Order: sequence, then C-alpha cells, then structure tokens
Amino acid sequence: MTVAVVDGLDPATVRGLVARASDPKRERWLRQVRRTGACRHPVRLRGIVLRGDELVYSTASEPDGALMVRCGNRRAECCPSCAYEYQGDMWQLVYAGLAGGRKGVPEQVAEHPQVFATLTAPSFGAVHNRPDDGRPCRCARRHAEDDRQLGGAIDPSTYDYVGAVLWNWYAPALWNRFVIELVRVLAASVGLSEREFRELVRVAYVKAAEFQARGLVHFHAIIRLDDPEDRGLAPGVAITANELAAAIRQAARRAVFHGDVGGATVQMRFGEQLHARVVQDGADDDARDRGQAAAYIAKYSCKGSHEQITARGASPEQLRERGVPEQLVQMAIAAIRLSERAGLGAVGQWTHMLGFRGHFVTKSRYYSTTLGELRSARAQWRADRDDAELANDTTPVLSVWEFVGCGYLNPGDALLAAGVEASIRVAREALIDERRGPPPWVPPDGVPG
Ligand SMILES: [Zn+2]
Ligand SMILES: [Zn+2]
Repeated sequence: MTVAVVDGLDPATVRGLVARASDPKRERWLRQVRRTGACRHPVRLRGIVLRGDELVYSTASEPDGALMVRCGNRRAECCPSCAYEYQGDMWQLVYAGLAGGRKGVPEQVAEHPQVFATLTAPSFGAVHNRPDDGRPCRCARRHAEDDRQLGGAIDPSTYDYVGAVLWNWYAPALWNRFVIELVRVLAASVGLSEREFRELVRVAYVKAAEFQARGLVHFHAIIRLDDPEDRGLAPGVAITANELAAAIRQAARRAVFHGDVGGATVQMRFGEQLHARVVQDGADDDARDRGQAAAYIAKYSCKGSHEQITARGASPEQLRERGVPEQLVQMAIAAIRLSERAGLGAVGQWTHMLGFRGHFVTKSRYYSTTLGELRSARAQWRADRDDAELANDTTPVLSVWEFVGCGYLNPGDALLAAGVEASIRVAREALIDERRGPPPWVPPDGVPG
C-alpha cells in the first residue's frame, strides 16, 4: 500500500485496510469475497457442518470466525452483483423456454410457435415524449433524452392520475383476461370450441412488467404453444407463429376487465400500441434473436419497482424531497386517495408501486424451469467443485447456522470488496466482448449452461 492511496481516506478505512493486510487469513477472506461475487452487503454466518458424528466444517477457522453469503438483493442500485446473478438466472429461465435443450426443458420447444409480444397501457392524457419519427413533443419542444419532464403530463389539471393507478391495479387481471381471450381467438380460428382446443393446445408464457416514465406498466411476453400434456410435443393443432402473432393482436384488442370501484364499474383495456413479433425459426441469427429476447425480459426482472419509487409509506413530500418526478408523486397521491374508496383499501399498500401489485416476472407453470431449480443446481455445482470427495459421500449431513451480522466489518473491508467487484466486472465485460455472438449474456459465476 502506497502513501498516495492512503491519502484522502478516512482513519476508519485506513485502520480496516491495515488490519486486513496484516490478517494471516486475508487470502481466505478474499476468496470468500469472490465467492459472494463481491456482494455489497454480505450476510455473515457462524456455524458448523457435521457428517455423521464427524465435524467436517466450522466457521471457527474462517477469517473473523464467519462465512459470508450473498445478500440476494435483486435491485442493481443496492447490490450490483446479486442483481446481476438474479438477472442471469432470469435469462437462463427465459432462454431455456425459448431455445429448449437446456435446464431440463426439452429441445423440441424451439420448434413450437413462439411470439415476443409487448402489450401497453392506454393513454390517460398527453405526456411529454420524444416521438420516434423525430417530430417535436405536443408541447412543441424537442426534449433531450434525459429531460426530467419526459413522461410527465402536459396538462396536469386534466391528466387522469386515478385512471392510471387503476390501470396498474387491474393490469395483472387484464393480462389473465387476455390469456383467456387468446385461447378463444385461437380456438375460433381453427373451428373448435374452447374446451376442445384446450385438450389439444396449451398456452405457455413468461412475461415481464416494465414501468414507463409516465408511471404505467407495460408487459413484455414470450408466448409459446405446446401440447397440453407434454411440453416436448408440438401442439395438437397446426398453428404457425404468424397466426399466433395475429391472434395475440386480436386478443389484446378484445381483452377487457371490469373493475369494481366503489360500486361503479370501470372497463380496463390495453392501449393501441401493440407489438407481436415472431421469434425466428431456422434462420442464421436464430440463437442471437432468442438470446436478445431473453435478455430483454431479464433486464426488467431487476427493476424491482420504478427506480425512484423505493420507499413504502413515504409521503408525497418525502417523495418530492428525494427527487421523484411530479408525475409519479401525483400517481402516488391518487393511489392514496383511491385507497379511501370502498373495496380499494388495499391499493394503499401498493402506493410505492403506483398501484401495481403484480410480480415483475411471471411465467406459466410449464414455460421453463424455475428460479429455485436454477439456484439449487448452482449450489450443487459449487459444492461439487469445492469438494468433489465430500459431494460423493452419502453420510447424513447436519448443519447449524447462526446469523452474525450484515455487511462488511469496516469501511476498509468494503473498499477491498469494491476492488474485487471492479475486477469481476472487467473480467465479465472482456468475456462478453470476446463472445460478441449469442448468447449475449454470460452466466454469472461460471455456471455451466
Ligand atoms: Zn448482494
Ligand atoms: Zn413536451
């Protein structure tokens, strides 16, 4: 350590750095940091592992007498490493459903009709935007890409904030109506009743919710048709991917959900902007296409809520103090008001999500593998790599763990971990550069594909 590095560091950081530099277990400590992927807030555990009556592991011999494990936070601004791992798992999950032949998903699914669709929210009033065709905004100005006005109502006095919150509130139910409608449209197109159709075809999907600047959610989804009993078999009715895309557009236009707002019925529909694109089959860039579609869905899995709406129960004043755009503050106020109406009390618990109570990524049961399966596969893979001998032993194992604390012991340790985080990022980016081609995602921590 040079004097130049120490210059400008506060005494607590320097003390921490010096303590770790003189720690005889510092190499082991660094290995632990690398194992957590340089997690920002690792959980420190104390514990033992018994195999039969033999003590095979104890944290007593670890640095600081503890083992660090990942915090598991999926928000990139809280922990980039854990968010990246979660996003990687999500990519694996979506890609396996798209491409098949991995993570326990049969390879035949790649041959089934699959469509990447985006379903949007309707308009609740004009907002400041950047039209695709280069025209100015309706306010007559051309907004810069990072203009904080983007997404905000042009005329806040007439914007329907309540309607916008209600749309978020009912969006998951509207999606369910859409799936039912899709079966209806497809069944009618081949001259079958819904029941007959369901005996021959299953609609499988994975979808991600994305918050737009105007505070409304969009759905991005991959929709696939399978045999109802076995996802490895083609659907029992010949439907092309193009026909599926057309049916998705029709079903999205038709889907309607009737919400009950204090005794009055409100009709919820999707917006007119609809995209349904066939996932290529057989083309040269097939794998890249699928990889990018998977990356698109995975990207939204980590946007836990609208980036700036983070606190449950924050007052409108507190949100403004934190720099939350006025459009979103107005929606939060509308959510609080809605929660005072009969039957809508629960909306108040989702103010921080502007009324959206769904999960950010959901999938139908048979679309792909699950996050739980991916996690246990990774844990097993690490255990096997760490100790091949022990992994083959079948003697019963008992482990006892105790929580010690969260985060690093001192700012010096945190600084060293930040260095590890930077080196992991550099190595990862070099790997992505090197591959260039599909998949555009490098599985975290070297999990085998
Ligand atoms: Zn973490
Ligand atoms: Zn404007």
